[in-house]
Amino acid sequence: MCNNAFGLSRGVHVNSELMQNDYFRTMKHIIFILAATALTIASAVRAWAQSPDYDAWFTSDRLRVDFVLAGNADSQQAYLSGLRKECAWAGSHESLIDPFRYGEYMFEVRTVDGDTLIYSKGFSTLFQEWRTTPEARVVSKAYNQSVWMPFPKKEVRITLSERMKEACGTGRTGRFREIFYCTVDPDDVLVCREAPAEDYAATPLLVSGAMEHKVDLLFVAEGYTAQQMDEFHRDCRKFMEYLFSMEPYKSRMDDFNVTAVDVISPEQGTDIPDQGIWKHTALNSHFYTFYIDRYLTVTDYKAIADNVAGVPFDALFIVVNEEKYGGGGIYNSYALGTAGDELSYQVFVHEFGHSFAGLGDEYFTSEAAYENFYISDIEPWEPNITTMADFGSKWKDMMDSGKWDEAQVGIHEGGGYMAKGVYRSREDCRMRTNTAPDFCPVCQRAINRMIDYYCK
Ligand SMILES: [Zn+2]
Repeated sequence: MCNNAFGLSRGVHVNSELMQNDYFRTMKHIIFILAATALTIASAVRAWAQSPDYDAWFTSDRLRVDFVLAGNADSQQAYLSGLRKECAWAGSHESLIDPFRYGEYMFEVRTVDGDTLIYSKGFSTLFQEWRTTPEARVVSKAYNQSVWMPFPKKEVRITLSERMKEACGTGRTGRFREIFYCTVDPDDVLVCREAPAEDYAATPLLVSGAMEHKVDLLFVAEGYTAQQMDEFHRDCRKFMEYLFSMEPYKSRMDDFNVTAVDVISPEQGTDIPDQGIWKHTALNSHFYTFYIDRYLTVTDYKAIADNVAGVPFDALFIVVNEEKYGGGGIYNSYALGTAGDELSYQVFVHEFGHSFAGLGDEYFTSEAAYENFYISDIEPWEPNITTMADFGSKWKDMMDSGKWDEAQVGIHEGGGYMAKGVYRSREDCRMRTNTAPDFCPVCQRAINRMIDYYCK
């Protein structure tokens, strides 16, 4: 999602049909919700308790699975486009099953008979965002997307599922529907084992411990020439200082390793298509994504994947050598922002909130851009916004705890690009504006939970 706090043109299509009294409707379902919450917690506890034995299933290496996602507003298809053995797996050896189930897609790895889940991870894509634009109603497109997993020791079955805009029984977030499956044989001679095409220098900026017990954050250079790498490292250090000045990152600094990857671009900057500016850069980043002025993204995911093939990581932030305001962040995919704007650091923590912790945008305006982005009887998967369809799965427990007053953790209408029918927990938060003093307690809890997941 892009950062709209200072006037990106993405806005809201206000749907007056959205129910404004979802809270009371939810109360009618309170018994069901309590039961559903208990079931959800129980299954999450089971998933953690029965974490698969990493060493029985996986080597210490990383497997990259490349997909092509193709389709339009109505439907999408997924195709396998490559398998590649890369460097070391940076992820936890304990947290193999995704306890959050955030994101628009779910990638799952099972034993070859399909019986036992041994790895899963939710994520979102730029392609899925594009599918909600008007253009997707008149043309079909294809986007690259890569997913990483620990390298399997024996044959496994992988599946990719898309989230449907339909509530499922418990949890009431949109259910997942399988759109792709195949068997992966790690001994297949055609699994690519080439050294990375570009072997860039990786400079450790913060080393706190073993990669499998830390969040491994990678800063990736974009639009920096070979002569500008000192400048890139200075920019990374400033981003890092800002991140660790804000809670909850401030208290959790020891849980992070941070590395800068010197990806070299032939030219400085990035593409600004609406100004006729086109730059030859390593990742082909560009403004004007979906014709939105300040929405900066990388459309071709393969450019990202190829340039980080030799470096272990959990989370990516692409630092773009440009002064114009803008950025973007997609859950478990990537985030990026420019380095030279006066609000660059604020944009960074906001976009990283999307890509790292799965946080939703808490802002809303009256302009139209997305239609029905959230549906009233489906609980959004993002932890910091709610339609009240399943408020028990969000911050109801925090309100009930008596630890915060209502100004800190309450119910405020407006969020997720919609003025009505979507609620946030506090008047202001870094997921709403760049001027908020901090993340709201609900966002802070979600970030802390994500850090815990990587550090287990
Ligand atoms: Zn928040």
